[in-house]
Amino acid sequence: MASNQKNEKIYVVGHKNPDTDSICSAIAYANYLNKRGKTAVAARAGEVNPETKYVLDYFKTDIPELLSSAADKKLILVDHNEKTQSPDNIEKAEILEVIDHHKILFELAEPIFFSSEPVGSTATLIAKKYLAEKIKITKNIAGILLSAILSDTVIFRSPTTTKEDINIAKKLSKISGIKNLEKFGIGIKEKKATLKGLGAESIIYSDFKILEAKGKKFGVGQIEVCDLKEAEKRKVELIEKLKNIAREEGYNLIILMVTDIIKKNSKLLFSGEKEYLEKAFNKKTGDDSLYLEGVMSRKKEILPPLMKIL
Ligand code: MG
Ligand code: MG
Ligand code: MG
Repeated sequence: MASNQKNEKIYVVGHKNPDTDSICSAIAYANYLNKRGKTAVAARAGEVNPETKYVLDYFKTDIPELLSSAADKKLILVDHNEKTQSPDNIEKAEILEVIDHHKILFELAEPIFFSSEPVGSTATLIAKKYLAEKIKITKNIAGILLSAILSDTVIFRSPTTTKEDINIAKKLSKISGIKNLEKFGIGIKEKKATLKGLGAESIIYSDFKILEAKGKKFGVGQIEVCDLKEAEKRKVELIEKLKNIAREEGYNLIILMVTDIIKKNSKLLFSGEKEYLEKAFNKKTGDDSLYLEGVMSRKKEILPPLMKIL
């Protein structure tokens, strides 16, 4: 393709709506390439979230430049491989390489470097590259890679966590000087997993799925927190908003799933025809909330039983 272009600058970029893994893996991989004599820069495909901002501040690292269009650029994709998640105009870019840990939905007319491993974070794979080539990892790069692992694996709680993530995190812990990974990890997650500063409507709609069948309509929002107390304190306000939305949008049942990522439990606040909920989870509920011990996944544990009764 355009390999003899004048501008040989390579952009390393993660997915849209970037998370800490996408941003930190891009920075660290651009740094790795620089150390191997290549002209690479880290880029981002959207605004950094408060969690990532905290991590970058903590390790005195600049926010990567925004890549609003990928047209005519040389790109390395990290932390994703689906083109719908890439920066705009990806079809007009030259993709040189992909490093990822998600399911593969990628096709290209020509061969490229493509590495994918079923580990907990892309950062694990980037750290492995440094270690394999014996390239020195600075304290701050170790810190952002470690943060990305802790973030993506929810401090090793996610079922996607592997032994390799844990081993690499231990090595990065030594280099970065971050000793207590549990404490540091929770400090990171707290910056985003919170209801603080959000109105009831933003909380309900921040990540919302609609189920429809046989003339019935269910809505299920999910938000992650580090402590269910926040939601309990705001329960009246949240239920009131759920009621309004159900009335205005015609939901038979509307649920807000508040998930405690630290203790791995969820509380469902709801409004509407509760017999559907009681049937789906085989539990009686006296009021407008239902506590589910050990439940974290909407995709695996909430939506399937609801679909079944629809
Ligand atoms: Mg990601
Ligand atoms: Mg990731
Ligand atoms: Mg992720």
